[in-house]
This record gives sequence, C-alpha cells and structure tokens, in this order.
Amino acid sequence: MAFKTIADRLAAEGHIYRPSEPKFPLKTISYILNNPVYLGNVVWRNKTYPGKHQPLIDPELFQQCQDIIKGRNRRIGKSDLELAGGLIRCSHCGQSISGEKHTQTRSDGSTVHHIYYRCANNYPSPDHPKVRWRKAELEQAIAAELAKLRIKSDDMRTLVRSTMADAFADIGTQQRKQSQSLTKRQSELKGMQDRLLNAYLANTIDESIFATKSENLKTEQTQVDRHLAQVHLIDPSRGAAALAIFDWSQNVAENWLCSNKSTRREILDTLCVNKQLNDVSLCLEMRSPFRELAQRPFFDNPHHIETSS
Ligand SMILES: [Zn+2]
Repeated sequence: MAFKTIADRLAAEGHIYRPSEPKFPLKTISYILNNPVYLGNVVWRNKTYPGKHQPLIDPELFQQCQDIIKGRNRRIGKSDLELAGGLIRCSHCGQSISGEKHTQTRSDGSTVHHIYYRCANNYPSPDHPKVRWRKAELEQAIAAELAKLRIKSDDMRTLVRSTMADAFADIGTQQRKQSQSLTKRQSELKGMQDRLLNAYLANTIDESIFATKSENLKTEQTQVDRHLAQVHLIDPSRGAAALAIFDWSQNVAENWLCSNKSTRREILDTLCVNKQLNDVSLCLEMRSPFRELAQRPFFDNPHHIETSS
C-alpha cells in the first residue's frame, strides 16, 4: 500500500490530520511509519534508546512495516511456502524468512521442485550467514522443538496429568467449603446486628456502644461480601480446559507435521512469541505455560525431584 493510498484510506475513514489540513500529508505518514518512538523507544542524537512510555505497536509489526517500506520483504504468498512471509525471523538481522521454489529439470525432461527458506534481507551485512534451509529440514527442526513439550516417560506424563486433575478437582471442593462458611458468617453477622439493635432499643446499651459495635459489624459484613464474590471468580471448569491444553501439547509435534498449512501457522503462533532461525538452528521462544513445560528437566528425570524436594 503506497503512502497516498494510506492517506486516501484515512480520509475515507474520517480521520482528520488537523482542521486546516484534514488529509494526512504523505511525509507525515512516512514519519509515523518510520518512527521508533511508537515502539516505546526514544531517539537522542540519532541514536535509539529504550524509553519509559507505553509502546503503541509491537516490534514484529513495526519490522514488517519497515520491510515493506524498504522493499526488502520478499513475502511469498504461495500456499506451499507456508513457513515464509514473516512467520519466522532471521535471528541475525531480524528480517522475515522467505521461501524460494527451485524447479530442476531432470535428464528425462521431468521436473522436480525444491523449496528452500532463507533470510529475505537483500542487503545483508558481510558477516550475515549465507545459508538456505531445505523445506524438510526446517519442518523437522520445528517438529523437534515442539516435541520438547512432550514428557517422554509414560509414567511421569500420567502422574503429571493426574496431579493436575486432582489439583483442579480440589479447587471446586475448596470453593464450595469457603462459600459455605462465608455464607454462614453472613447470616451470623446479620443476627448479631439484629440483636444489637434490639439491645439498644431496650436501653440495655447506650448509643456510643451501639454505634461502635454496629460499625464493626458492618466492616466485617463488607469484607465477607467481598470474599464471597472473589471465591466465585475462579471458574472450576478452567481445570478441564487446562487438562485439554496439556493433552494437546503432548502430541502437538506429531499433529503439527500432519496438519494443513493454515493450522500449522496457527499452532506456531499459539505456542510461540518468537520464532527465529539462524544458519544452524531454529529457536522457538514459547509462551507461558508452554515455556515451562518445554523446560522441565525434572519431569523426565524422577531422581531430580527426589533430590530437589
Ligand atoms: Zn537475516
């Protein structure tokens, strides 16, 4: 999309630059799209430093925008290059990984296609790795990363699952118990308030004692009401969701390999905050709780539990 198209779109959507000049000038659009301040940075004497203000856009989107502006984004939308187009970034320079399809003609005249992935940077620095990844290699590397989520020992996997199930079952029981005792306290407090009022009306206690005691009862009533509301904030059915996610994570590597293209991208986006590729390795930085699940030496090494607990 050219800057002029962006300006036209903003005008059509009713965005006004300023009353005397309603349409956004092209140089302003360019300034905004190139401005690292929106990333949460500050610029001082041509150098960029992390700022203290809230970023308005995330770095990946900013980088995609930079790639497009500088014409460096060789985004290939062909359906068989599903790992291209910004899904994975080059860990050396931060550019998108793009795909290339090479067609080779054999001596018998038949053709064979090879797909490669590499950094889309057309102006790499001299020390930039010059490596292409074969499609199958990259797919295997991704599956290997996803396989880290699986707890290898069958016994340990079953134990973790049943521990989770017990913990969530316990949440429901705890909630019921807490709710019961708080409701009981609510009616006790109401009874005490009634008796206090009767004692005051019968002139058994004087006004100042009545006022103090009544105030104390009201404070406790407010606290009990608040606790009761909080008890119900945790939805016990989340336990079922957590178990389903755990089961899913245990087979995600296999499922990824046999999924269609859009599901593959969706799985990677769901699991990972960052997907980086260099000349020798792929690094998938996973979101919590998958990160913790992938980095759990103790699950596959029962001895570690005995010594660390
Ligand atoms: Zn690169």
